[in-house]
Amino acid sequence: MPFHAPVDDFTFLFDHVVDFARLRETQQFQDATDDVTRAILTEAGKLCDEVMAPLQRPGDLHPARLENGIVRTSPGYETGWTAIAEGGWIGMSADPEYGGMGLPMTLTSAVNEMMSGACLSLQLAPLMSQGQIEALEHHASDAIKALYLPKLISGDWTGTMNLTEPQAGSDVGALSSKAVDNGDGTYAVTGQKIYISWGDHDLAENVCHLVLARLPDAPAGTKGISLFLVPKFIPNEDGSLGAANGVKVVSLEHKMGLHGSPTAVMQYDDATGWLVGPEQGGMAAMFTMMNNARLGVGGQGIGVAEAACQHAVQYALERKQGRTALADGTGTISDHADVRRMLMTMKADIFAARAIALSCAMAIDMARATGSDDWRARAALLTPISKAFGTDTGMAIAEMGVQVHGGMGFIEETGAAQFSRDVRVTAIYEGTNGIQAMDLVARKMMDGGEAAARLLDEVEALAEAARGTLPDLAEPVWQASESLREATEWLNAQTDMNIRFSGAVPYLRAFARVLGGYLHLKAALADQEGAREKLARFYIKRLLPEHAGLLAHAQAGSEDLFALSADELAA
Ligand SMILES: Cc1cc2nc3c(=O)[nH]c(=O)nc-3n(C[C@H](O)[C@H](O)[C@H](O)COP(=O)(O)OP(=O)(O)OC[C@H]3O[C@@H](n4cnc5c(N)ncnc54)[C@H](O)[C@@H]3O)c2cc1C
Repeated sequence: MPFHAPVDDFTFLFDHVVDFARLRETQQFQDATDDVTRAILTEAGKLCDEVMAPLQRPGDLHPARLENGIVRTSPGYETGWTAIAEGGWIGMSADPEYGGMGLPMTLTSAVNEMMSGACLSLQLAPLMSQGQIEALEHHASDAIKALYLPKLISGDWTGTMNLTEPQAGSDVGALSSKAVDNGDGTYAVTGQKIYISWGDHDLAENVCHLVLARLPDAPAGTKGISLFLVPKFIPNEDGSLGAANGVKVVSLEHKMGLHGSPTAVMQYDDATGWLVGPEQGGMAAMFTMMNNARLGVGGQGIGVAEAACQHAVQYALERKQGRTALADGTGTISDHADVRRMLMTMKADIFAARAIALSCAMAIDMARATGSDDWRARAALLTPISKAFGTDTGMAIAEMGVQVHGGMGFIEETGAAQFSRDVRVTAIYEGTNGIQAMDLVARKMMDGGEAAARLLDEVEALAEAARGTLPDLAEPVWQASESLREATEWLNAQTDMNIRFSGAVPYLRAFARVLGGYLHLKAALADQEGAREKLARFYIKRLLPEHAGLLAHAQAGSEDLFALSADELAA
């Protein structure tokens, strides 16, 4: 079934829900006019539908493979990569000084999400480069920027991020890779990194690795970590390629999905690297890349959800089975109430997750354009919510897509199963969703819940204003926001972090549920009696009430979680 990039949905969201026009009022983004935005979304949509979506299945059937030390990518990926690179899609938000387009992250997020729906495995490659570009823009020396950024933006070279080691997954601070100062401005990097996405491939002439490692005598934990840029081939000053560096691919992982994306074990042996950011300032620099990737990975979940939903709706509108209770229906399974429940849930949650992700991207852009601390805090608050809710939605909806297909969902040819397998990792990489929730209830509440309270003020102001026109939607949104406000105050009063962590995942999901209600309400106000209002009503009546159970869970403390001893757990 062909994929159709949801260009119209993004246009609606930009115009009526996230207030994209606000960005155009800033000096930085004044060129992102209505015409430019629409042209970009339309062109990206064509790339997704015509070039990337046809690569989805070949990547699954013919995974990337390691041959004599070189990673060979799936059939057709080279064409896809060339189209992405030549279209300028990698550097959409990158600095124009180095060949980027300087466009808002909000627009890049929309394009990235559409690409994820078309072909997740391939889309991960430009996403990794984008993260590296941003990290270098913020933290690298001028010489590194001048040499690397134009090549990464053009797609001649690609970027990776190397954090994970066998003993250092969620706990990055446990890493043991080492770096020694060579005394000539370079460092010798040694160690093994695992699970490195697009760690090597045959699509570009050079692969540039951002590697976290520890200098001699550096303190333990995250404080002692530095960041190094380690290219596969050491570039000459003019950008031509020099000698091969001391880095190689040991093996590729066999995975449950995402087969087209090579996931590599990388070995560094005295590889030549350049410091990015200050010594022992590695985590701050890497966080620039990780925050970018967190927003991007949330979008990956939503993109796959969109593709899975399109497949399921199409199938449900064609498959006939059983007598339906609808007199004037289509006579297909889409008339069955339970199938409708699934299809409506898919559409309503995709809207909510997408609107939250775009709100996060807007906050990032507004923070950049205005320098405002409030926008910065909004972006920081929304990043873990966007990542976890986007990817949870991706998993739930891909899984629902399988269910809508019945037995055919379990048969690979329909593609429904691939969505479910591919999207699974998005809740794991870039910080598991559990870690995102802990970030929300700990670091992101270090302001005592101020940023959250400011956001809830906006939710309630809209609900108040909507009481006259859509009272049956406005009231539940207002009530849900108040419950979340009370839970947030309760959370901030907890000094025992284990109590906060015990409720972190349900708290994050409740937050997303409330934001989803708010953003659906905005859409309903803009499209009264139209399809958006109908979808909002479904969400607010049926999905939003979940917040109450989640908040009860979030405030249940930690005692019962640890009531069973380890022996009792194992019994
Ligand atoms: C396909 C794929 C691609 C990847 N790409 C990259 C990449 O490009 N670069 C890179 O550096 N890494 C990459 N990763 C690694 C990925 O980021 C890690 O797998 C992830 O961070 C989790 O680490 P772990 O696998 O060691 O799991 P663990 O850290 O062992 O976690 C296991 C479980 O324990 C939980 N847990 C762990 N610590 C805590 C805690 N403190 N509090 C609460 N719960 C906790 C986790 O949430 C999880 O549920 C990739 C992984 C995969 C599978």
